[in-house]
Amino acid sequence: MSDDETRSDAPERCPICETPYDSVSVHEDGVAVNLIENDRYRRVCFEPIDEEGTARLRFYHHTHEQVGTSPPGERGTPGGRVP
Ligand SMILES: [Zn+2]
Repeated sequence: MSDDETRSDAPERCPICETPYDSVSVHEDGVAVNLIENDRYRRVCFEPIDEEGTARLRFYHHTHEQVGTSPPGERGTPGGRVP
């Protein structure tokens, strides 16, 4: 699945956490985000933007590598505890 589109006017780095991101998507309607156990993305940052008078949300998708966490399969809480 690769329907994410990179906007030419999107900054090179995420404006929220200033970390490189994998892709950007823009949403006008409500969305649900569930990154629990997501093997590809560790974090998504949300930036409210105004595009030609329409309020939208720009999503910056960060992979585990970009955020600098353990690769999938090694994740967990310190000490192996389950919160
Ligand atoms: Zn970010």
